[in-house]
Amino acid sequence: MAERLNTGERILRGIPVSAGVCRGKVLILDKPRHSIEKRILSEADIPAELNRFQQALVKTREQVQEVQRQLLQNLGASHASIFDAHLMVLEDPSLIDEVVRLIQEEKVNAEYAFHQVTDRYIAALAKVEDEYLRERATDMRDVSGRIMNQLLGVHEQVNLAQLSEPCIIIAHDLTPSKTAQLDRKNVLGFATDIGSRTSHTAIMARSLRIPAVVGLKNASELLTDGDYVLLDGFNGNIVVNPTDQTLFEYGQLVRKQVSLEEKLRDTLNQHAVTLDNHRIFISANIEQAGDIEAVRTSGAEGVGLFRTEYLFLNREQPPNEEEQYQAYRQVAEALKPNPVVIRTLDLGGDKLLSSLGIPPEMNPFLGWRAIRYCLQHEEIFRAQLRAILRASVSGNLKIMYPMISGLDELIQANAFLTQFKAELRKEGVPFDDKIEVGAMIETPSAAIIGDALAKRVQFFSLGTNDLIQYTLAVDRMNEKIAHLYEPTHPAIVRLIKQTVESARTQKVWVSVCGEMAGDIVLTPLLLGLGVDELSAAPPLLAQLKYLIRRLKLSDTQELAKFALECESATEILARSTALAQRVAPSLFDTKK
Ligand code: PEP
Ligand code: MG
Repeated sequence: MAERLNTGERILRGIPVSAGVCRGKVLILDKPRHSIEKRILSEADIPAELNRFQQALVKTREQVQEVQRQLLQNLGASHASIFDAHLMVLEDPSLIDEVVRLIQEEKVNAEYAFHQVTDRYIAALAKVEDEYLRERATDMRDVSGRIMNQLLGVHEQVNLAQLSEPCIIIAHDLTPSKTAQLDRKNVLGFATDIGSRTSHTAIMARSLRIPAVVGLKNASELLTDGDYVLLDGFNGNIVVNPTDQTLFEYGQLVRKQVSLEEKLRDTLNQHAVTLDNHRIFISANIEQAGDIEAVRTSGAEGVGLFRTEYLFLNREQPPNEEEQYQAYRQVAEALKPNPVVIRTLDLGGDKLLSSLGIPPEMNPFLGWRAIRYCLQHEEIFRAQLRAILRASVSGNLKIMYPMISGLDELIQANAFLTQFKAELRKEGVPFDDKIEVGAMIETPSAAIIGDALAKRVQFFSLGTNDLIQYTLAVDRMNEKIAHLYEPTHPAIVRLIKQTVESARTQKVWVSVCGEMAGDIVLTPLLLGLGVDELSAAPPLLAQLKYLIRRLKLSDTQELAKFALECESATEILARSTALAQRVAPSLFDTKK
């Protein structure tokens, strides 16, 4: 994995997920713990080991109290009290006594003793029927992780929202909720061991415009706090101790990027019209109302996907109807008359919300997520749909359901919508009765029954991130099989085509809001397959417009015809890339 050059420079290779280059000091979060080393101590070492354990308990206690103090200040007593359970674990005499006894009697190191004891406690708690006790297993896991970090000298309690100096974050994994907290001023870039282009962490990085590399496998182990690195988000490299020559080369790359951005600026306010006069709508994907400014300056003609689950992350209680209404109204008003597609809550998979108390699942991506969850939680669905309906009078809002896998789900979701409309009507609350409704096509089953779905919606949006993962049975988070995650796989090409054809029969328009939509090498293919709209992270839109304005629809249709008959994903990718590169070579200048 690590390539060592004789200059002292070292290159770690991963998957580029967010463009840009940055350099600076590394800050490592949470090193992965594969196994806890067992060390046998001499009699003389035991008092020091016991002291080390006591110190770790004291420091963890201080740390928990500090978090609690901050929460009390910012969010009030109810939020802060959740840490009382953590403090209780830290004072549990039977647990502490057992660890001490193990260190003394078996003469083992504190990490090992502590791990042995807590593992047993956690396993026992996780098995009990009583839900309250089962939740204590989570508290125990949390606190024992903190204590273990103290013992191992790993500082996980970095406040990501307030870093003291600029740095490049390196982590084994960074959850979408942690990514959302990143201090944009001081996080120059970030890199993770796991993940792929379509993990939500990568998606967040693109909308935050933070250069990022994922799938580095073991960077968090190889690197140390304070290492000086260069992160190349264009090509997916981390260069450790870059030489002057490397810094010079990257300086040139950055200059190319700056001049490309200048060139793209002219395109921002133009429409994406091909040379043979076919218009494609270009929209933005957003995660929060705060992204409005980025949408305005991106050249977007609307929002094709508002991932509302980010409103639900990093908090104890889900947002109520009023809070959601304010967020949706703000976006609708700011962007009208342009359309804003609000996707109903798509939690699950890698977006887990502690506030909704969803238990861990064996296969979270195949589990209780998105529309499946909402249809079983009327109160959550009601608050969201009513909030969207109320906000619909302030602009041009549309509703979109995620993860539809069967017709019944769509029928049920629409029935709820009709019911909530009736409620509002009775209450005399105004809303747009003709609000358009769409279904995400992100399961193979939805693509295959597109003809039935098309009769009940006004638009489709291809969620290719999930469509690829489910069709090819390739976990979108898993870097080990990232090579199998092929957007140009013939099965994907055919499902997109089938979706477009089903849509046409009912005059339903088709958008693509998965990451394929923002990938310029795939634009010719998507155009040729007949989609009407591409929706991607705001920073990617100018180059999409630039490219489309240089393409001929007829060439892309020829490419699609070839792709529909072709048996090889690699060949389809090569043809689509070649066409993009031929008409817009300057978009490819930042590839090394
Ligand atoms: C998709 O699956 O392509 C999509 C846009 O939804 P998400 O990435 O949020 O799962
Ligand atoms: Mg999806």
